[in-house]
Amino acid sequence: MTLTGRCLCGQVTYTLEGDPLVTAVCHCDHCQRQSGGAFSVNLVARETQFAVNGSLTTWGDPGDDPTGTVHVERKFCGNCGSPIISVPTGRDGVVIVKAGTLDDHSVVSPTVEVWCVDRQPWVTMPELAVSKDRE
Ligand SMILES: [Zn+2]
Ligand SMILES: [Zn+2]
Repeated sequence: MTLTGRCLCGQVTYTLEGDPLVTAVCHCDHCQRQSGGAFSVNLVARETQFAVNGSLTTWGDPGDDPTGTVHVERKFCGNCGSPIISVPTGRDGVVIVKAGTLDDHSVVSPTVEVWCVDRQPWVTMPELAVSKDRE
């Protein structure tokens, strides 16, 4: 399976080869702020599965680390601002693709939710295999 996706303005497109390792909903505060939505939906894949066309702008996200150490590089279209991928700095070779940017959403089926501690009170999820207060 080859999935394709793009940012809102179309300057950034990408392909994702093969199945994602896992599909996860993230309720964390930073995903809410970056997306402007209530949560993010993420396809976790190997870096080798992902290929991008166009240039991404990077913001180094320290999470809530008081030392300011970057834990996730959040990469987005510098023209329209759509978040495309996040790259965790501690886990080599993994990319997290923002599922809202896929061309075909019919393949998206989350099995994991994380950072439920930050979940907005009105959000109810279907029963997922894994549910964690934090990540
Ligand atoms: Zn764009
Ligand atoms: Zn998050």
